[in-house]
Amino acid sequence: MIEHIRELEKMARQLEPDSTARASLREPVIDYTEDFLNTIYDRKAYETDYGNPQAFFESPVSEEGKDVEELLTYLQENVDKPGLNPASGGHLGYIPGGGIYTSSLGDYIADITNTYAGVYFAGPGAVRMENMLTQWMAGLVGYPGTAAGNHASGGSIANLIAIVTARDAFELKAKDYDKCVIYLSEHVHHSVDKAVRIAGLKECVKRYIPLDERYKLIPEKLEEAIEEDKKQGLIPWLVIASAGTTDVGAVDPLEEIGQIANANNLWYHIDGAYGGFFTLVDECKDLLKGMDRSDSIVMDPHKGLFLPYGLGTVLVKDADKLQQAHHYFANYMQDTTERNIEARSPADLSPELTKHFRGLRLWLPLKVHGLAPFRACLEEKLWLTRYFHEKIKALGFETGPEPELSVSTYRYLPPSGDVNAFNEQLVKEVQKDGRAFISSTMLHGNFTLRMTAVAFRTHLEIIDTLLEVLEKGVDKLLNE
Ligand SMILES: *Cc1c(COP(=O)(O)O)cnc(C)c1O
Repeated sequence: MIEHIRELEKMARQLEPDSTARASLREPVIDYTEDFLNTIYDRKAYETDYGNPQAFFESPVSEEGKDVEELLTYLQENVDKPGLNPASGGHLGYIPGGGIYTSSLGDYIADITNTYAGVYFAGPGAVRMENMLTQWMAGLVGYPGTAAGNHASGGSIANLIAIVTARDAFELKAKDYDKCVIYLSEHVHHSVDKAVRIAGLKECVKRYIPLDERYKLIPEKLEEAIEEDKKQGLIPWLVIASAGTTDVGAVDPLEEIGQIANANNLWYHIDGAYGGFFTLVDECKDLLKGMDRSDSIVMDPHKGLFLPYGLGTVLVKDADKLQQAHHYFANYMQDTTERNIEARSPADLSPELTKHFRGLRLWLPLKVHGLAPFRACLEEKLWLTRYFHEKIKALGFETGPEPELSVSTYRYLPPSGDVNAFNEQLVKEVQKDGRAFISSTMLHGNFTLRMTAVAFRTHLEIIDTLLEVLEKGVDKLLNE
C-alpha cells in the first residue's frame, strides 16, 4: 500500500513545480504577456478571420502534458487573434473591456495564495477588504453605513442578486406574481430582464414607461402608471432605472424617479453597471444625482474602473435585506455568522460559497495608482465622446442626442437608397479595416451606429483613426 501511495505521490507532485520549473513556466508566459502589451496599440481591435473552428477539438485533453511555449503559440493563433480584442483602445463597440495591468497582478496573488473570501470566519482579512471596498462604493453612491454589497463576477449576476433581494424584501408570494408590477424602460439592459426571469418572476407585469427624446424615462408617466395600476388592484413593486443605458448612454432622471418610488414604497433599483463610476468625475455629479435614493444599485468595476473582466458589484442600502435573501445556515458553519458590516460574509450576501478573492483585483490598482488617474481616465472618455460627436456631425452624419456619458449615436444618410442597408454596410467596412471596432443598434427602427469610449486605452489617436475610417467608408459606399 505504502508503495502505491508513494507512486501516486510522485505523479501528483508534478502539479507542484519547484522554483526552477516555475521559472521556466513563468518566463515564457511573461514574455507572451509583455509582447501582447508592447504591441497592443498596433494590434487590430477586430479580426474578421475567425481561423480554424476545429483547432481546440483537434488538440484534445490527454494524459501527457505539453510544452508551455507550444501552447502559447496555440493561444496566440486561436484565441488572441480571431474576433474582438477587448483589451484594445480601438474597442469602441459594446461597453468595452478594460484590463489594467495592476489588477492582473492582484489576481495573480489571489490565485497563488488561493485566499478564501467567502466566509469571515475563515478569511477575515479578505472579507474585511471586500467589505471595505463595498463600503467605499456605497459612499460614492451616497448610501448610509447600513449598506452592504457583494463583488460578483459581473453586472448580470449583480443585477440578479438585487432582484432576488427586492423580491424577498417585499415578501412577494408566488400566487401574486401576476399582479406585481415592474416599471422600467425599453432601454433597460437585457440582463435585468434575464434576472427577473431567473428569479422566477417572469409572470410579473412589466410596465414600459415612455421615454423622452433623449431616451430618458419620463417620471410623470411613471407616476401615472403607478396610479393606474393601483386603481386596477395591481401591486406596484419594483422600479428599475439606468445610470447610463448601454444603447445610448442615457441617464434616467434618478432623483425624480427616486422620489416617486419612495413616495409609493416601491423597491428602487438602479443599473449603473456602465455609468455608475462616472460619479467620480465632478461634472457628472448632477447628472447622477439621486443614486442615493435607490434601494439597490449595480456598478461594474470591470467597466467603469477598467478592470479585466470578472467584477460587477451590487450594493443594497439595507444590509439585512441583502443578507435575508442570500444567507444559509448550515450546521457545520455555526461558528461563522457575523452581523457587523466589516464582518459580513460574502457567502451570506450572494449565491456563491467558494469564491475567488475578487477584492484584491480591485484593491491593488486603487491603492497602487490612487483614484486620480481613474477620474482622469473617465473624464477623458467624456471629452473624447464629445469630440467624436462634433467631428462626425461635421462629416455630414446625422447624430443622436448630445452624449451624456461616453456613447455617441450617429448614422449616415445617403442621397438615395436604403439608409439602414447603407449603415449596416458601413459597420462592415469599419470591421474589415479592424483598427477600430464599433457596433450598432436600432433606434425608432433606424439602423444606428454607436461609438462607446470606456476602454482605458482609448485616446485621441484612435478616435481620429475611426473618423478617418468612417469617412473613407462612406466615400467608398457612395461610389459603389
Ligand atoms: C454591461 C452591462 C450589464 C451587464 O453586466 P455584465 O458585467 O456584462 O454581466 C448590465 N447593465 C448595463 C447597463 C451594462 O452596460
